[in-house]
Amino acid sequence: MTESTKSGGTGRCLCGAVRYRYEGEPLSVGLCQCDRCQRQSGSAFLIGVIFPKEAVTIEGPLATYEATVDGEHRLWRHFCPSCGSAVSITLDRFPTIRSLMGGTLDDKRHLRPTFSIWCSAGQPWLTLPPEIVLYPDYPDGTFG
Ligand SMILES: [Zn+2]
Ligand SMILES: [Zn+2]
Repeated sequence: MTESTKSGGTGRCLCGAVRYRYEGEPLSVGLCQCDRCQRQSGSAFLIGVIFPKEAVTIEGPLATYEATVDGEHRLWRHFCPSCGSAVSITLDRFPTIRSLMGGTLDDKRHLRPTFSIWCSAGQPWLTLPPEIVLYPDYPDGTFG
């Protein structure tokens, strides 16, 4: 059964081995069109649904790919080792937040992305709705 109320909800990877629950509302919802997120998602962008870290509980065999950003900051991409679904991202730069991948939420009706970062790396066919604020790169404070 899908649990979903406005003040929390659930999600899972494609195969269901990794499941999570979140409490409350996301701090923000944004898209990332950077080349790395395109490669991980296999798509044009990744949907980041950002929560305070303590608001999310994840269960299952989550695997982690660690990458450095700008040769300095570390970023961890957490995924299901069985089906490969991207589930979550955490960053050393913003240790208090956890980003859940929008496609893994059980209830996607309330998802309202308000911004996109790394539009300069975006695929040329993509036109986002006018209410989404576009950033060419990754300004401080957008996800944090
Ligand atoms: Zn899975
Ligand atoms: Zn990205």
